[in-house]
Amino acid sequence: MFAVSALKVIEQFTGQDLGWQDDPCTPLPWNHIECEGSRVISLFLSQINLRSTSPTFGDLLDLKTLDLHHTSLTGAIQNVGSLQHLQKLNLSFNQLKSFGSELEDLVNLEVLDLQNNSLQGSVPETLGKLPKLRLLNLENNNLVGPLPQSLNRTGLEVRTTGNPCLSFSSLSCNNVSSTIDTPQVTIPINKKHKKQNHIAVLLGVSSGALFATILIFVFMSICTRRQRNKERDITRAQLKMQNWNSSRIFSHKEIKSATKNFKEVIGRGSFGSVYHGKLPDGKQVAVKVRFDRTQLGADSFINEVHLLSQIRHQNLVSLEGFCYEPKRQILVYEYLPGGSLADHLYGPSSKRLSLNWVSRLKVAVDAAKGLDYLHNGSEPRIIHRDIKCSNILLDKDMKAKVSDFGLSKQFTKADASHVTTVVKGTAGYLDPEYYSTLQLTEKSDVYSFGVVLLELICGREPLSHLGSPDSFNLVLWARPNLQAGAFEIVDDILKDTFDPESMRKAASIAIRCVERDASGRPSIAEVLTQLKEAYSLQLSYLAASAHTD
Ligand code: ATP
Repeated sequence: MFAVSALKVIEQFTGQDLGWQDDPCTPLPWNHIECEGSRVISLFLSQINLRSTSPTFGDLLDLKTLDLHHTSLTGAIQNVGSLQHLQKLNLSFNQLKSFGSELEDLVNLEVLDLQNNSLQGSVPETLGKLPKLRLLNLENNNLVGPLPQSLNRTGLEVRTTGNPCLSFSSLSCNNVSSTIDTPQVTIPINKKHKKQNHIAVLLGVSSGALFATILIFVFMSICTRRQRNKERDITRAQLKMQNWNSSRIFSHKEIKSATKNFKEVIGRGSFGSVYHGKLPDGKQVAVKVRFDRTQLGADSFINEVHLLSQIRHQNLVSLEGFCYEPKRQILVYEYLPGGSLADHLYGPSSKRLSLNWVSRLKVAVDAAKGLDYLHNGSEPRIIHRDIKCSNILLDKDMKAKVSDFGLSKQFTKADASHVTTVVKGTAGYLDPEYYSTLQLTEKSDVYSFGVVLLELICGREPLSHLGSPDSFNLVLWARPNLQAGAFEIVDDILKDTFDPESMRKAASIAIRCVERDASGRPSIAEVLTQLKEAYSLQLSYLAASAHTD
């Protein structure tokens, strides 16, 4: 059953149990579905969060109606091109940005509802070539330019209100575009020129003052206008978010009450402090206050937070929401009571003892799963750029989750290798190739992850003055030792408790991760496989030791 597996994939996208069991059409059709005989002909998923891009609806070949309004779709319209029987497509109230290229294939389409999205640019000519189209709703988007004449035909209703400039006439657009968002300050010119010459002497000193007053006036009106624009930006962006999910926007008052006026600091990072908080429903959160050095602006910040909060994985610390102020960004994360891996490796000795080899491998496997999801599972894919022990947090059951992925770090598939101008990351974890070329790829994360693995093996920080000068840099010191099988450098706490085969496997993958040449490094998926094997070897070793004791 092709449709069943396609529907199951869609269900996974929703992250919800839609109660879709057994046959979709008999004895009764599943929720959200209509059938004709054994064929699924309608799918209604409105108000269900599909998390960013559209899953593949293209395998539901018999669909006549597809209703995806209010489903948080973003980007381009896609994965619908093969639906040759589709008659009604409702994609309204999402954040879609472009038409994509698949709509032109929907030859039976009669109704296309795209209202209240973020569609930009002009309307493609190809829409007018859909022979059966009778209603096209484009209201409340950011579309401009004259509509293609191919849409100007009897029997087709095109709705366009709420766009900056969209009509069949090319003339009516000119005036509009020049008046939108163009702050202008007009200084009136005094036409009584001659008279003014007369009195110029009399005015003497006071003209200087008048000039200064005008300057101040101009300056103040620019500032007020900017401030107003900024505030309007925030409200507009927040309204956009409210459409999406109101529970994710916190007011400053709510943050203050959740953190009891920023009472308990649980950590400090380079962006600012992290506070413990409790939401009204009892959920514990970590509240990160960042000073906005990125100057992202409300719209970009909210767009990014919007994307990040949709990234959900059991090994990633989830972003619960945010509070935006012009100079501060407050991010609200799920709270992980176990602290960071750094606390466990370098904190008080009681914590260190709890991290034996098997639990270190488990942490490594969990973190690799989180990173693998960022690189290969999420859309857009994300390069973390700052993998390190303090960004791997532990929950109450010692399950590890990767934190701090996100802001300004997404890259799209089309832009797989990314040249950046600012080197981000932390000393000791930085990929040397990225540092010298500024060419950012997933392999930079793999390098940093390799450093974390070396820390787990050796129980020491990436840069340390504690030993001899040649041991200052963990990578340079550990690599030749581990390659030679010199396990003397393994953390003293682990001595005589690990399976040599398991350690060899973990050491070998760690060394490959920190290869200088990025192309020689494994993918995180391969790292994950190797770590899982090292973990099972250690489990078998422990089971065998327990048996002989
Ligand atoms: P940098 O800012 O340089 O990346 P960092 O990652 O240590 O450093 P933060 O991410 O701000 O900085 O975190 C600081 C500390 O706050 C962490 O080491 C951790 O102890 C604590 N912390 C952060 N997020 C959480 C969370 N979600 N739950 C519990 N503790 C957290």
